[in-house]
Amino acid sequence: MPQIRTSKDNLSQSLAQINQASRDLEDAQPEEIIRYAYDLLGDDLTVTCSFSDAVLAHVATTAVPGIEIVLLDTQFLFAETHWYATELRNKFNLNLHIMEPLVQSENLWQTNIEGCCAARKVEPLQRLLSDKTGWVTGVRRADAETRAMTPVMAYDIVRNVIKVNPLATMSDDDIALYERIHELPEHPLVDKGYSSIGCWPCTRPVEGDEDKRSGRWAGQDKIECGLHV
Ligand code: SF4
Repeated sequence: MPQIRTSKDNLSQSLAQINQASRDLEDAQPEEIIRYAYDLLGDDLTVTCSFSDAVLAHVATTAVPGIEIVLLDTQFLFAETHWYATELRNKFNLNLHIMEPLVQSENLWQTNIEGCCAARKVEPLQRLLSDKTGWVTGVRRADAETRAMTPVMAYDIVRNVIKVNPLATMSDDDIALYERIHELPEHPLVDKGYSSIGCWPCTRPVEGDEDKRSGRWAGQDKIECGLHV
C-alpha cells in the first residue's frame, strides 16, 4: 500500500497516494477498507451514519469495535430514525454520538432548503471533521447516477480529510444479502415505502419504479443535501 501522510497539515500532499490506495482497495471487502483506514488514522477516523439501514454501522463496528459512529441530528429526523439508531446502538454495542446543529428553532425548510441543509447538516459535519483526518460514509455508486463515480477513498479538499466510502461498490442486491446474512433489522419506514430516509419535511415514500432517491426533496431542484459534494 502507498505511504500516506496522516497529519491534517499535510494530507493534501498525499493526493496521488490516496488515489492509489483507493484503486488498490477497489475489490476489498467493506470491513477491510475500514480496517485499512483505521490502521492509518486511528481515532482520527469517524463514521457518519444516516441510519436509513443498519449496514454501515454494522460493517464499521465489526471492522473496528468501538469505532466512533455519528448521527447528524438535524432535529427534523423522523422519530422512527431516532428509535432505530437507539435499537442498533443497544443491539450492536455501537459507540454512537449525536451531533446537533447550532441553530435550534428556525424553520428554514419552509422557505430556504439550501440554507436549512447548510445550517443543519453541512455546518455540523464541518464542525465534526474540523479535527479529524478521516471520514467514513455510506455513499454507494448504486445510490444515484450522480454517485456512479464514487471512489473507495479520496481526498476531500473541502473538509481536508480522507473520505472513505467502504460500501461504494455494493449493489442493492449486495446490501440486501448482507442484511440477510447478518439478520439486520430494517428501518421501520422501509415497510411504508421509504427507500431513502432523511428529514421528515423533505422525504416522502416512493412508488412503483420511481428512483429510490426521488422521495427526497420531491418537486424541488435539489438531489443532494450538501454533505457529499
Ligand atoms: S433535508 Fe430538509 S429539513 Fe433536513 S436539513 Fe435539509 S432542508 Fe432542512
